[in-house]
Amino acid sequence: ALPIVAVVGRPNVGKSTLVNRIAQVDEAIVHEMRGVTRDRSYHTADWNGVDFTLIDTGGIEMGGDDAFQGSITAQAFEATREADVIIFLVDGRTGINADDEEVARILRKSSKPIFLAVNKMDNPAREDGLWEFYQLGLGDPWPVSAMHGHGTGDILDEVVAEL
Ligand code: GDP
Ligand code: MG
Repeated sequence: ALPIVAVVGRPNVGKSTLVNRIAQVDEAIVHEMRGVTRDRSYHTADWNGVDFTLIDTGGIEMGGDDAFQGSITAQAFEATREADVIIFLVDGRTGINADDEEVARILRKSSKPIFLAVNKMDNPAREDGLWEFYQLGLGDPWPVSAMHGHGTGDILDEVVAEL
């Protein structure tokens, strides 16, 4: 089986945009995997010749209610169990919120390699907003723009080095 990279984070931070960019396909290659929650899409990807499975977590996003709050937590737990490397995606425009803190609390307990990616940094000249993300206690934040592709190669270099 291929090594697994999971992208976790609250809704609308850009997980699907990032996964689609990395996997370079618009349609998810969804594998039916026993014992895995349905709201995750599995893609195959490669970077610098390293093949891996890329999981887009939180495919079903219902917004706002308590069940949904629970599901962010469940997705993060599942990722720490299932993935070899985790990309924790946050939103550089909105900054940190309570859901980000919740996910960070779970990820900090994991011994898996975790990369904190700050998305929507569309203008590489404006990275002053990165500082607040050190508060999440997950090391250096990596600026990326899933939409434009800035920074995604840099983080992928580090990610595949852990596989
Ligand atoms: P998900 O809910 O985490 O899967 O987020 P999506 O990938 O669906 O993206 C949520 C919204 O953020 C969409 O409107 C995207 O177009 C937008 N978005 C994603 N990545 C970027 C980015 O790098 N820059 C900007 N400006 N918007 C982005
Ligand atoms: Mg999505």
